[in-house]
Amino acid sequence: MIREPRQPVQPDEDQKRQVMRLRFDDALETQFRNEFELGARIPRITILIIGILMIAVTPLYDSALLKAPGDFLTASRALQFGVQIPALALALLITLRPGLRRWSPIAVTLAATITAAGLMAQHVLGHFHHFGVPDDFAAITIAATLLLGRLRFRTALPWALLTLAAATAAQLWVIGLGMAYDAISSWMLLAIASVSAYLLEYSSRQSWYRGRLLEFLATRDGLTSLPNRRHFDLELRKLVREAVRSQRNVAVMLLDVDHFKAFNDQHGHPAGDQCLRIVGEWLGNAMRRPQDFCARIGGEEFAAVWFDAGPEDAIRLAEALRGGIDQLAIARGTDGRTTTVNASGGFAQVVAPSPGESPERIAADLVKQADTALYAAKRAGRGRLVHAGSEHYVDLKTGQRIDG
Ligand code: GH3
Ligand code: MG
Ligand code: MG
Repeated sequence: MIREPRQPVQPDEDQKRQVMRLRFDDALETQFRNEFELGARIPRITILIIGILMIAVTPLYDSALLKAPGDFLTASRALQFGVQIPALALALLITLRPGLRRWSPIAVTLAATITAAGLMAQHVLGHFHHFGVPDDFAAITIAATLLLGRLRFRTALPWALLTLAAATAAQLWVIGLGMAYDAISSWMLLAIASVSAYLLEYSSRQSWYRGRLLEFLATRDGLTSLPNRRHFDLELRKLVREAVRSQRNVAVMLLDVDHFKAFNDQHGHPAGDQCLRIVGEWLGNAMRRPQDFCARIGGEEFAAVWFDAGPEDAIRLAEALRGGIDQLAIARGTDGRTTTVNASGGFAQVVAPSPGESPERIAADLVKQADTALYAAKRAGRGRLVHAGSEHYVDLKTGQRIDG
């Protein structure tokens, strides 16, 4: 299975608002959630283990040290070891298993709800046995889940409010309104935890987005917005590695605009820039498959890469891409009149590379062959594609063999 390349992040004014609302646009939101979920594993495992341990050690002190009455202890143990610990342990098992990852947020939420309900039940039970169990335990469980459970704030907040409201309602209903003052500290704790959880997710989103933006800027060319040389080198090597693994083809075309110095001299540098933008737009829009891409690798030099295209198809696609440049209407300046430019192309491909070869070596050879083919195209008169065959170079315009 070949991984789809990550969507590039475009600088966007709206992004700040999206970070504040804790919601990106759909495509970005999906990527963020996947990565957020990956980072949630360790904090969740930690908080679940802490929860289990804290409940498991209460028998060490509640009867001997705190002198809890026997009736209370019987009911309390049943809750602790029959309900709370199994619920937390199940959530832990689900979180530990990578295959069950998508169930982890629900499992953690359920386990926290059951634990908080159990703690509130112990508080109420304790009240009737004249044994003081702090009612804040339920709020602490909810707050810890908000902060360390790494649940998304927009769904976790309603859950936290509802759970604590239910716990407070049960407390006041069973014990009486006299407990209202006690309940206030629980709500203060929840308020502090909620604000902190919001800020936590806000800064995770902000730093994630900044990281993506930086990655985007570091791999993009400022003039054409196409991927740059650095991206081309990295991505080509990655595709060749994949091609070696899965026995697929990789094809590369290097393109160079012909007589571009003369174009600049005649129409001016700004018109030259505009020409490169138009060529870049054509190249960027021409690629159809997610793995295929074009890059600007130098001044007026571009590269195109096709993954897993049939050997004949790749040559056809390369010629169509190069030939399309001849058809572009290029503004000559500010007078609204247009002209055209030509480009020469050098093409090379590797068909089902053998697993014994080093991918880095194959990628470097591909670029070298395509570069030699490009120079052959220039020498043969420009405005054409030359294909680096296994033993010779072929001018696709004349069908003639050219020495490499
Ligand atoms: P050839 O057909 O042999 O490729 O000739 P050429 O004139 O295209 O090639 P040469 O390497 O002699 O000149 C390339 C020109 O491209 C020179 C340089 O000023 C121009 N150039 C490179 N980068 C940019 C750019 O970003 N903007 C503009 N306007 N011009 C650029
Ligand atoms: Mg050049
Ligand atoms: Mg040139």
